Amino acid sequence: MSRRSLQLDDAVYDYLLSKSLRESALLKKLRAQTAKHPLANMQISPEQGQFFAFLIKALNVKKAIEIGVFTGYSSLVIAEALPPDGTLIACDVDIETTKIAAQYWQLANLADKIELRIGAAIETLDELLCANQAGCFDFAFIDAHKPEYIDYYERLLKLMRPGGVIAVDNVLWSGEVANTTKQDHDTNAIRRFNDHVSQDKRVFISMIPIADGLTLAIKQ
Ligand code: CA
Repeated sequence: MSRRSLQLDDAVYDYLLSKSLRESALLKKLRAQTAKHPLANMQISPEQGQFFAFLIKALNVKKAIEIGVFTGYSSLVIAEALPPDGTLIACDVDIETTKIAAQYWQLANLADKIELRIGAAIETLDELLCANQAGCFDFAFIDAHKPEYIDYYERLLKLMRPGGVIAVDNVLWSGEVANTTKQDHDTNAIRRFNDHVSQDKRVFISMIPIADGLTLAIKQ
């Protein structure tokens, strides 16, 4: 028995999905559609989606925010798990991929729960802070432009209530964060973010080796 996280081969991964994934028909359809997209690997993994739904319910999340929508799988997961009066602000720069997302929000009758904000997420977050939204959010998911991770995080930390959780995707970056010969812009940005949050006393953290690595930070 290993004391480290298990490397999942295809059979174990399929088993995990078969025993824990409670994916709606629309999520399944969206995942199949997105698999044909040239940037399909930007979608979160289904077990990560299941984990987000679990978190939304366990934390009694009512106000959530997402930075990086792509074709909408994570936003649909979050919106499905939110209570009837829950809301999600979904931020992205891409008009084309978010059109797909918006179609699925409509099909799921969840469009009135989700507010799409097209534009630079840093500006959207600054607008929310100016609109006295500091301390109002329960959950945030960061999965967008890697060099801006610290900028998103610092603003989101202000927007979170104490006990609110920020989830940050791709923190293991296919393992390249530990490969010192890899020195490109995005890899170094992820390293800078991981350094930034690892000793941040304003939060309590856990880095989870799910999908491409996910850091959870609770605002103290
Ligand atoms: Ca990602």
